[in-house]
Amino acid sequence: MSYSIHTELFGPYQNFSHILVDEASQKAVVFDPAWDADYIAQRLQKLGVTLEAIWLTHGHHDHTNALDALRTIYNVPVYASQIEIDFINNVPEAINSKVFLPLPNDIQGFKDGDILQLGETTAKIIHTPGHSSGSVCFLLTDDMITGDTIFIDGCGRADLPGSSPNELFESLTKIVKTVPHHVTLHTGHAYGPSDTATLESQIKTNPYLKRANRHEFVDYRMSN
Ligand SMILES: [Zn+2]
Repeated sequence: MSYSIHTELFGPYQNFSHILVDEASQKAVVFDPAWDADYIAQRLQKLGVTLEAIWLTHGHHDHTNALDALRTIYNVPVYASQIEIDFINNVPEAINSKVFLPLPNDIQGFKDGDILQLGETTAKIIHTPGHSSGSVCFLLTDDMITGDTIFIDGCGRADLPGSSPNELFESLTKIVKTVPHHVTLHTGHAYGPSDTATLESQIKTNPYLKRANRHEFVDYRMSN
């Protein structure tokens, strides 16, 4: 059972888009397609893989703005957390803020603890609210796709519609307590000193993981 992760950098906000390939079946998923659907399609072709699905870490526009264009090339299902889908569909502030884009009508929802399958590769959904209410991380055997919950030596903003600094603290605590520390983190933006890092090294250097308690975290997050 093995897989590979191919990462590209896109757009004005230094977004990462990741392609996960299941080696046995040569099936692939794209995480958070944004900014350049044609380039993502070229990458898939060059890898010689079959796109099976699109998986979203959250619904912010800078992670989803190439979703529709990519789906005109590849008619594949899209998955996101049901909490994120409900927030975007039911809270007017979400779309009015322009931070979120509408999601496809046929999007499929998942929830905390669900297991998604790609060939022989499995990804476990970890609901990590805080940056947005429905943000998730995708835990693989030795890697985790984190979206904007955690960056290398940073973490996501908690001042947007649906954000909660208290929940972000709980989510980061949950990651440190439940995710194996050898796991390599693949984040939603290239904001750190390196593209990836292990959770073990982040526990030592990420200032947001070093806050003593919720109160200190919230103060630190909202003033940085
Ligand atoms: Zn975001």
